[in-house]
This record gives sequence, structure tokens and C-alpha cells, in this order.
Amino acid sequence: MTETPTETPIPWSAGAAYIDGRFMPVAEAAIPITDWGYRRSDVTYDVVGVRDGAFFRLDDHIRRFRASMETFRLKPPEDDAAIMRVLHRCVALAGLRDAYVAMDCLRGRPPAGAPYHPAHARNYLAAFALPWISLVRPDVMERGAHLVVAETLRIPTRSVDPRAKNFHWADLTRGQFEAHDRGADFCVLLDEDGHVTEGPGFNLFVVADGHLATPDAGVLEGLTRQSVIELAREMNLAVAVRPVTVAELRDADEILLVTTAGGIMPASRIDGRIMSNDRPGPVFRRLYDAFWDKRAAGWHATPVDYASAEA
Ligand code: PLP
Repeated sequence: MTETPTETPIPWSAGAAYIDGRFMPVAEAAIPITDWGYRRSDVTYDVVGVRDGAFFRLDDHIRRFRASMETFRLKPPEDDAAIMRVLHRCVALAGLRDAYVAMDCLRGRPPAGAPYHPAHARNYLAAFALPWISLVRPDVMERGAHLVVAETLRIPTRSVDPRAKNFHWADLTRGQFEAHDRGADFCVLLDEDGHVTEGPGFNLFVVADGHLATPDAGVLEGLTRQSVIELAREMNLAVAVRPVTVAELRDADEILLVTTAGGIMPASRIDGRIMSNDRPGPVFRRLYDAFWDKRAAGWHATPVDYASAEA
């Protein structure tokens, strides 16, 4: 008697995804190869974190995602409330307490017979929840990231508006190869006027004489950046949102990298120059502790609806 082979089920615990109306384990999630979201990077996205079973700043992420979609003239069928339900259900299906949760809106393709123009494409939503990811490895958190100022400039804001989250990452990727070739962890990109913008997946703060500053333009208005501004004000640390020159970056006492995927991260070298004894500095430590203490106490938290897994 021959036995019927049984297929090993794909586990939900590795992550759960949603594409255009359907939920699935993340390993099964795929988008069509001809989709303009893939072929033209014609897609926008956002990423929200989940810690200890709660989203951080969920409403703000949804608001920014909707604004990014409007900038790129993308409109999925789901409204904001429906997008939130999708995100809750992805986390719940994967059963994750700490998660990296992404939402994308892809251009799609025009239906057969329609003009070959993005205005006629049918846009759709994709989302997924994965076990928590940090941009910086634990050993880099320990010693501080090594940064270089890249020769590659950030794409001009009149070409691609960095306030709308996008995958036009050719500049950031090229900068990362410069960093790699120079033995550093991350690049920092300047604009055409020599002002600091951002790095691959993070905003920056420079600290000089206890004063913090973060670039006011040419960057994604990061929600971790917003959280650090709020925290600094609460802690009576001077913080300014203004143009930051490359000289300020190169002379800084400390540089902080901030992003959803990792929170607040320290840097200890810039273009080979050592800051704070080659270790994370004191302003970093104060803000890092305050950030995670407040998060543990429920700051900007929305509990995940785990019952939605059963829906
Ligand atoms: N800048 C860029 C280019 C990013 O991709 C990101 C996050 O992915 C950030 C900044 C940080 O934004 P947030 O703190 O909202 O995650």
C-alpha cells in the first residue's frame, strides 16, 4: 500500500501576510512579476513596530501611509480602519508579541484593454508581520555604529519627495557600498547644498554641547525622530529642527540614528573620527533609557487585537 505524501504546513509563526484581500503565511506571499510596484518601484510603504503586544504610534503611521499614498497618487480599496484591521490580524495570525509590521500600496497594472498609464492601474494593499527586526546588530549597539559621509548625494526632493516613504533606494544603496568599501556600517547622504539628510532607513540627530539638532528638510519625517523630539523636550534638552551642515556632523560630540526598526541607536565614528571614547555617548544613553522606559509604560501604545486571528 502506498502512503499519500503529507505536505509540511508552512508555519504562521515565521510571519503572516495579506495581499489584496487574502491572508497567508509570509512564506507563501508573492506579488506578480509584471506588477509596476516591482518593475518601476511604483509603490509606497510604511513600517510600524509592535513591542510587548502593542503597536507604537499606530495612528501616526497610518496617517503618514495615507499621506504617502496621496503623494504618489495611489489608492487601495481599503480605508484607514480596514488597513488597521489588516495589520492587527497579521500580527495576531503570526502570534507575535514583538513584530516588524509593514504595509505597502502597489501600483498594480492596468486591466486588459485600458490605456498603458499608471492612472489606469488597479492599486492594491499588501502587508506583513515578521518577528521583530533591528537595523543594528547587538555588537554594533554595544560599540556604536561607524558612519561615513557618502560621495553619492540624496535624490533631489523635487524628483522624489522623501517625506513620502519610497523604494527609490539607488542612492542609499550606492552609499551603503561606499560605506562597505570604507569598512563602515552606514552611509549618511548629503543634499546638493552640503546639508545632512538621512541614511539607509534612519534619521539622524547631531549632539554638540548638549544641544540636539536634526535636519528639517530632505528627509522622511520619521516617527522615531518625532518621538526623540518629544522626549528631549520633556527632558529639557535643547532640540532644534533646522538645516544641519556636514561640518556639524563631522564635528559632533555624538550622532544618533533613529528608526522604527531599532529605536535609538548610537554612532561612535564618523569618517574615521572617534566620538565619546569610541563608545555610545551620554546623551544617547539618557534618551535610549527614557525611550524604552516610556514604551514599557504604554507610551503611544495600541494593544494588538489578538482575537482578530479567529475572525
Ligand atoms: N528615513 C528613511 C529613509 C527610512 O526608510 C526610515 C524608516 O524606515 C526612517 C528615516 C525612519 O523613520 P521611522 O522612525 O518613522 O521609522
